[in-house]
Amino acid sequence: MKKGKNEEGSWTICQECQGRGKKSRGLSDKARRHYQMALDQFEKTKGEGIAPVRPKGHLHSCLNCSGSGLLHSASHPVVDKENYPHIAIIGGGIGGVALAVACLHRGIPFTLYERDNNFDARSQGYGLTLQQASKAIEGLGVFSLDERVISTRHVVHTTDGKVIGEWGIRKWMQSDVKTSSKRTNMHISRQSLRSALLEQLGGHDAVQWGHQLIDFAACEGEGVDLNFLVDGKIQPFKADLVVGADGIRSSVRRLLIGEDITPLRYLGCIVILGICPLSALKGLDSSLLDSATVFQTANGNERIYIMPYTSDSVMWQLSFPMPENEAKALSAQGPQALKEEACRRTQWHDPIPQILSTTLEAQISGYPVYDRELLKLELLEKGGQVTLIGDAAHPMSPFKGQGANQALLDALTLARGISRGCRAASQWRKAGVRESVLTEFESEMLERSASKVKDSAEAAQFLHSEIVLHEGDEPRGRCLKKKNV
Ligand SMILES: Cc1cc2nc3c(=O)[nH]c(=O)nc-3n(C[C@H](O)[C@H](O)[C@H](O)COP(=O)(O)OP(=O)(O)OC[C@H]3O[C@@H](n4cnc5c(N)ncnc54)[C@H](O)[C@@H]3O)c2cc1C
Repeated sequence: MKKGKNEEGSWTICQECQGRGKKSRGLSDKARRHYQMALDQFEKTKGEGIAPVRPKGHLHSCLNCSGSGLLHSASHPVVDKENYPHIAIIGGGIGGVALAVACLHRGIPFTLYERDNNFDARSQGYGLTLQQASKAIEGLGVFSLDERVISTRHVVHTTDGKVIGEWGIRKWMQSDVKTSSKRTNMHISRQSLRSALLEQLGGHDAVQWGHQLIDFAACEGEGVDLNFLVDGKIQPFKADLVVGADGIRSSVRRLLIGEDITPLRYLGCIVILGICPLSALKGLDSSLLDSATVFQTANGNERIYIMPYTSDSVMWQLSFPMPENEAKALSAQGPQALKEEACRRTQWHDPIPQILSTTLEAQISGYPVYDRELLKLELLEKGGQVTLIGDAAHPMSPFKGQGANQALLDALTLARGISRGCRAASQWRKAGVRESVLTEFESEMLERSASKVKDSAEAAQFLHSEIVLHEGDEPRGRCLKKKNV
């Protein structure tokens, strides 16, 4: 398959793998024999033993679509309103837009509602590092991201500039060390990724901007009634399935399971962010500013992480412990106070003081860091035709760079599940969309994201402790994992 630019034509799912990107090779002879023996044994017990579970066949990448699950087509598939449920997607952030795209490719009807009045309504300027999701975005028809930057080197320093850790393809090539670890990372601004996904939908008009979900009520067998605040008036809508992709302070989650059961959990620190153009740092000669290096510096309390944001700018993220009320107050004081605090705390090695002092206040923001306790499947089970994805389901601290990666994987997995579980002969209306799709989807999502939530919360602690100063050519915190093995 020729992988063209995202905007070249439309996509439809690959019929060979049914849009999954993977195909089962079936069971090996050995596995089949073992299963048959266990089954024969079980039958001899006349149903009194435990029935063996048929093993799943090994999955391999589909050759027909190179593993993306998509093929080029002259037009998008016809929307199949007769067979598929109509989906109300609440929230047009990373997860919501990705879900809309994956539904479009499968002919699943959807409406995408976003509270903001337009794409640029709020400052959402920060960069994302795509890890597992750099493959998943191909499953969303995004084969090239013009504004992405690839980093090939990651360096850790103490505050006087001493290198205490270094990894990435450039390091390994120099030292000839063989490693199976990931060698490059893709960085992209959140808005550029969102924009590339919106492009798939044909542009910004595909979103119902200025629609804030206020409440919903499910009617047994008759879908869900939703109310939105639009231009100060309440407007009703109806859907067969509601997906809350409305972020860490999700209204869908609050309406579904309440705020008291898994309230926001303060992780004890604040993050201050800024974006600085390299042109403002002319005259500063630093190999750390080569647009392909990520670096961090820490002292056991404050920690700064600096990565390429675009090919001609960097994003910095300073974090440190602070009581919640002080962090809220500092965040509320705005960019000038945040910048002063950040500069005061980072009179460290070059080019850190220069980057921070040069960053314009308009490019600075800061937030206390929160997550929530892990969601239990039982809490979602009572949700009927309503589910959650992304930060609404499993918010996490930004320190492992996993939130958007998980939101993208959730979106693709859910769309694939709907496509399979609600296909023409599935009788999903009789069984219910929960039984046909949601329970399996939620169980995979919660299992996959649980360790990311946990690791991200742990990182909020150890990145601001002596552990970060451990010497070693590996990501911070890995030494803790080794100790626990
Ligand atoms: C500083 C920082 C750095 C990060 N770095 C990374 C990284 O490197 N890698 C990574 O994978 N992740 C990273 N993340 C996390 C990532 O940004 C989030 O996890 C991701 O954006 C979550 O996507 P989402 O779609 O679930 O929610 P969001 O992107 O937050 O979108 C939610 C949307 O829902 C809308 N909404 C809310 N309420 C309503 C309502 N009632 N009605 C209608 N619409 C509503 C909001 O306006 C918003 O547009 C970072 C986060 C931060 C803050």
